[in-house]
Amino acid sequence: MRATIFHEPGRVTVEDRPQPAVGDGEVRLRVAAASLCASDVRVYRGEKHAAPGVVPGHEIAGVVDAIGAGVTGLAEGDRVILCPIVACGQCRFCLVGRRNRCVSRKTLGYDLDGGFAEWLRVPAELVRLGHVFPVPADLPLDLAALTEPAACVLNSLELCAVGPGTSLAIVGAGPMGLMHLIMARAVGAGTIIVSEPVPERREIARRWGADLVLDPAQDDVLGAVQSATAGYGTDAVVVSVGVHAAVPGAIDLVRKQGVVNLFAGFPPGQTVPFDPNVIHYGEIVLSGSQNATSDQYRRTVAMLRSVPHIDEVVTNRYGIEHAAEAYSSRLALDGLKSLVAFPGVDAV
Ligand SMILES: [Zn+2]
Ligand SMILES: [Zn+2]
Repeated sequence: MRATIFHEPGRVTVEDRPQPAVGDGEVRLRVAAASLCASDVRVYRGEKHAAPGVVPGHEIAGVVDAIGAGVTGLAEGDRVILCPIVACGQCRFCLVGRRNRCVSRKTLGYDLDGGFAEWLRVPAELVRLGHVFPVPADLPLDLAALTEPAACVLNSLELCAVGPGTSLAIVGAGPMGLMHLIMARAVGAGTIIVSEPVPERREIARRWGADLVLDPAQDDVLGAVQSATAGYGTDAVVVSVGVHAAVPGAIDLVRKQGVVNLFAGFPPGQTVPFDPNVIHYGEIVLSGSQNATSDQYRRTVAMLRSVPHIDEVVTNRYGIEHAAEAYSSRLALDGLKSLVAFPGVDAV
C-alpha cells in the first residue's frame, strides 16, 4: 500500500509499505479521508514529538474491511471514525472517563501508525476501549474525518461552559478558531467575538457568523470586547493560536469568574508574564484543553451534520501521492484545513 511516513522534522515522504494484516481483537480500515492537524504541523516543525518512521494522521474516517478474531459489534463495511487515543483504562484519569489525560496514553499518528495511508490497522486496545465509532449514514466520510478536531473543540467549549446565550471571545481564527466559532453557534452561543490578524480569515469569521471581528494589529480589542459586553468582558475566552504574546491580552477579555482556555499548543521554551491579581480578584479560571473524552467523540460524530459551514472547513484536498503538500499548504497558511482523500472508498 502507499503510506505517508514521518522521518524527522521537515521530512515526510510517501512510500510503499506492506498492507497491514489484522490480528486478534483488531480491525483494519480502508481509509477514506484523514485531515491534517495543527499538531501534525508542529511535529513537522520539530515542536512536538512523533516516532520516526510512523504514519502520521489521527483525524481519520474509513470503512472496516477486515475483522480480527474476537471483535464484537463491528462488521466489514461499517463506516467509522476513530478516537485515536490508546489509553490504559486503569489510571486515575481513565477511571473518571478522561482517557485523553491517560498517564500511559499512546496516540495514532504519533506513537502508532495513523491514517495517511491506504489501510490502517486499528490496535486491539483501541477496539476494546470502544474508540471505533459508527458514522451516521448521511454524513460523508470526508466530513466525518473532522470528528477528531471537532471533538477537541467540543471539549474546549464544554470546559468553558459555552451553551445557549453564552458570550465567547476567540483569539486566533485559524481552522480551529473558526471551528470554535461554528460549533459555538451550533450549541446556541450568544455574542461571539473573533480577533485575527489575517484579513482572509477575518472575512471567513464574518461570513460564518461572528458578531464582531477584530484585527489585533489595528483595533482596540479590549475596548471593543468591553463595549460589546456592557463592560463585563465575555463569559469565556479561547486562545486558539500558539503565540505566547497573545495570552496576557486574552486573559483581559474575560469577565470576572469567566474561563480562559488555552486551546492551542505553544512552541516550547518560553513563558508568559501576566498579573496574578487579575486571576485572583477576578476569580478567573485559567485552563488548558487537549483532545477530548470518548463521550465527546460519540456526541461530536452525532452533531457534526448540524454544525454550520462544517463542509467549508477543508479547503485543500490531496491524493496520497501528494500528502506532503498537505503540510506545505498549512505551513504557507494557504487555505484552512488540508485533507488526504482516498476517492471511491466512501459508499455514500
Ligand atoms: Zn487533531
Ligand atoms: Zn490511563
